[in-house]
Amino acid sequence: MNLVHLLPVGKVDASLLRELRATIPQSLHVACEILPYVLDPTSSYHAERQQYHSSEILQRMQALVRPRDWRLLAIADVDLYIPILKYVFGEAQMAGPCAVVSTYRLRQEFYGLDRDDALLSQRLLKESVHELGHTLDLRHCQDYRCVMASSHAVEWIDLRETTLCESCHSQLESKANLAGRRD
Ligand SMILES: [Zn+2]
Ligand SMILES: [Zn+2]
Repeated sequence: MNLVHLLPVGKVDASLLRELRATIPQSLHVACEILPYVLDPTSSYHAERQQYHSSEILQRMQALVRPRDWRLLAIADVDLYIPILKYVFGEAQMAGPCAVVSTYRLRQEFYGLDRDDALLSQRLLKESVHELGHTLDLRHCQDYRCVMASSHAVEWIDLRETTLCESCHSQLESKANLAGRRD
């Protein structure tokens, strides 16, 4: 089975990582393991924005990919951005192998609300599956309930399921079949 490696970025709650390791395989047909080392995001910090450039994190991850690695998903707890946007929940390399997501804007506390660990875990799972979907060459989906729907606010993430809609799922299957035939 294809293996997703989870890479902690900076200080990340270990229980969140363990939860993801258990829940990602329920949404995608993959196995999941946590890497035993941590990526320091400091060099991707830009003082003028007080945020971390997610594309630079992806670039640094690229150097960590080993030949037999399938997908590498970084889990951060810092505010991510790309220059054209105010912030991003995550970023992925289309068709893989690297993606990054952050819990920073998924926390209720960020919006001045009470902490909700269950909601945070759900949002993080959805964002993780979404970015992994991009690494599998899936684009944004028009179905707002699909995990591949685009979202610019957490409310939209909350509307999504944790899984792919039927159409995205069959796209993935046909891509997998094509890949299988090439092998
Ligand atoms: Zn997306
Ligand atoms: Zn879909």
